[in-house]
Amino acid sequence: MPSIIVHGGAGAVVADADELRLGMRAAVSAGWAVLAAGGRALDAVEAAVRSLEDDPRFNAGRGSVLTEDGGVEMDASIMEGDRLACGAVAAVSRVANPVSLARRVLDDGRHVLLVGDGAHAFARAAGVAECDPATLVTERQRKRLSERRGATPGGTLPGTVGATALDRHGTVAAATSTGGTLGKRAGRVGDSALIGAGTYADSSLGGVSCTGDGEAIIRVVLARRALEYLKEADEPDYAAKVSVDLLVEEGRGEGGLIVVDWRGRIGYAHSTSLMPVGWMTPTLGAPALPF
Ligand code: ASP
Repeated sequence: MPSIIVHGGAGAVVADADELRLGMRAAVSAGWAVLAAGGRALDAVEAAVRSLEDDPRFNAGRGSVLTEDGGVEMDASIMEGDRLACGAVAAVSRVANPVSLARRVLDDGRHVLLVGDGAHAFARAAGVAECDPATLVTERQRKRLSERRGATPGGTLPGTVGATALDRHGTVAAATSTGGTLGKRAGRVGDSALIGAGTYADSSLGGVSCTGDGEAIIRVVLARRALEYLKEADEPDYAAKVSVDLLVEEGRGEGGLIVVDWRGRIGYAHSTSLMPVGWMTPTLGAPALPF
């Protein structure tokens, strides 16, 4: 049974939850349109994440948080679970849709992770349009950097984005995209670029996309570990919950994750007060947006 679940980042409660809901609904619908037409989970998660990268209310693509020097450096990864095909980019600043560049890395198949200038050179060779980094910077993020309120995800706005889906063919895929953490050092790479930490998909088990304190997520290799829990418990919500406990207790950070299993059942959990989520399955008439 095809299904998709999308997240809009772990963070604190915000006043404009209705606006986030609009973005989440559009992203779930973009992914679901692919699945409902019999398309691939890989295309569905890319479409969902692209839609949120284009939405300046989320911390990915345009609207990304800024580094301590006021720049944009984005991370993204994508994975398809049949043959463990994956692609990722880190510290990219001149592409509007990092998830689609990660997808090109996956399709190319030679490497898994490209960073910085090398990733931009690959983008040029692959015919991915470069953008002016200034077009990714929003006034809202400029203001946030100057205020610099909240050093942990628990005290900040949500905004990293991710999706995981199962298609009609039984293939699972997952993707994550982010501008990283507010005021980060230039060159810092978080979990969202790292297969196994921020993103993982294995069609025999399920798919995962994580959000939150990237350093903590990396420490516990959260996405892959969540699939181990799923294998043991065969219950996506429970696997998500136990994974968040692992993140908080062993990783010493806050965050959340979404899960889809090989049967299309979805689950999610977060330790922060908010993590926008939305999902769609054949039994629903419209996307569920319970936040
Ligand atoms: N995990 C992301 C990072 O550390 C940030 C987030 O999810 O809010 O780059």
